Amino acid sequence: MAIADVAVIGGGPAGSSAAREAAERGLDTLLFDHAHPRRKACGGGLPVKGIEWMDAPDEAIECHMSSISFTHGSTKLKVPVAKGKMVRRDAWDHYLFKRAAEAGATHVNERVKQLERDGDTWLINGTHRARYVIGADGVNGFTRRHFVGAIPREHLFAASGYYLGLKPVENEVEFILGALPGEGYLWVFPKADHYNIGYCYNAGTPGMKQALEKLLHDRWPGEFTAPGRYRLESGEEVECIRFGSAIPSYNDPALFDEPVSGDGWVLVGDAAGHVNPIHGEGLNHAALGGRLAARAVAEGDPTRFEEYWREHYAKEMYRAASSKHRIYRPFFMRLGFALGGTPAVFGLLAMMTRGEYEGKAMRDFWLRLPLAAVQALFGMRHRELASA
Ligand SMILES: Cc1cc2nc3c(=O)[nH]c(=O)nc-3n(C[C@H](O)[C@H](O)[C@H](O)COP(=O)(O)OP(=O)(O)OC[C@H]3O[C@@H](n4cnc5c(N)ncnc54)[C@H](O)[C@@H]3O)c2cc1C
Repeated sequence: MAIADVAVIGGGPAGSSAAREAAERGLDTLLFDHAHPRRKACGGGLPVKGIEWMDAPDEAIECHMSSISFTHGSTKLKVPVAKGKMVRRDAWDHYLFKRAAEAGATHVNERVKQLERDGDTWLINGTHRARYVIGADGVNGFTRRHFVGAIPREHLFAASGYYLGLKPVENEVEFILGALPGEGYLWVFPKADHYNIGYCYNAGTPGMKQALEKLLHDRWPGEFTAPGRYRLESGEEVECIRFGSAIPSYNDPALFDEPVSGDGWVLVGDAAGHVNPIHGEGLNHAALGGRLAARAVAEGDPTRFEEYWREHYAKEMYRAASSKHRIYRPFFMRLGFALGGTPAVFGLLAMMTRGEYEGKAMRDFWLRLPLAAVQALFGMRHRELASA
């Protein structure tokens, strides 16, 4: 049996990015995925932060975001953005998968069910051999469970939604907060020919499904005529297809201390838990993390990945895990939105939304609060809102 240099398990954004990087670095690379082409349950918003980490030329994207808005009750704060992109996960994932194959990675159309250490190689499904394994098979997939154990439910978001077959009127990405007394949000994302709407809350939060149904029926009154078919009040019938999955969302920063690599193996993307715990965005870390893991493997030491990912995006992860509970507290939300239109607070929100902020946002918020209170007293609004 031939021995490959590396077996990448999972061909999502993390795995395809890893396989491409490994092949480009001259490694004999196997890319295992049994499900391509497939449409992964996802909002498909490429995070503005780290947009440059993701290979997403115009041919691979659906549309550019024009703004990102945050709504709480009757208050809406809308931030114009220039960098955000929206993708369909079947199209973008297929694009990344093709790029890996073009670089020389060999697709193995198998679900990995068996992994054994045999001397200094890995025996995969009893049929393939490789020196290193990169586990990129998603949240609580086979490799995560095999190497470090599943992510406990209390550190997961439940995320689910609909592809609603109506053409968006503008490319506004909406986050709706406070719809439920839990940690998370509802979203409305624009795509080229449909809306992607859904919820993302701590797993087990009561009322998530009902909140999503209310959003659907309030915005687009109508009824389901069959699974996946929705008739609007106008009589028009459109596709409305349900999707859902889990997302890592570490509620304790100490979980990021735990290694995600070892002798001959490394985990990346959702398998490594590398998702921002506040909002559940993981595509940026999956794409960059995949490449960094392949670099570590090419250098002959997968554990170097620990140093590489920490250098690039650990600060944001630790801060998000530490502040998640505080941010979603109802008092903080009410206060933030009450003062959110002032130049002091909206300026901070706009910088964060555009991925231009590197500091400690919570601390900065509290420092700006006295000024924001004075600005609110004098009815001052940020100029971007004043002109909206
Ligand atoms: C509903 C929802 C909405 C989301 N919205 C956003 C968003 O808008 N923006 C954002 O940045 N993030 C979002 N996320 C998170 C994002 O989808 C993930 O962070 C991202 O997909 C992680 O990429 P990955 O490559 O690690 O894993 P995945 O994309 O899950 O890919 C894993 C791959 O592994 C394959 N696989 C699984 N098991 C095996 C096996 N045993 N053998 C071989 N192959 C296997 C699968 O077929 C799949 O192709 C969302 C997640 C969900 C659930």
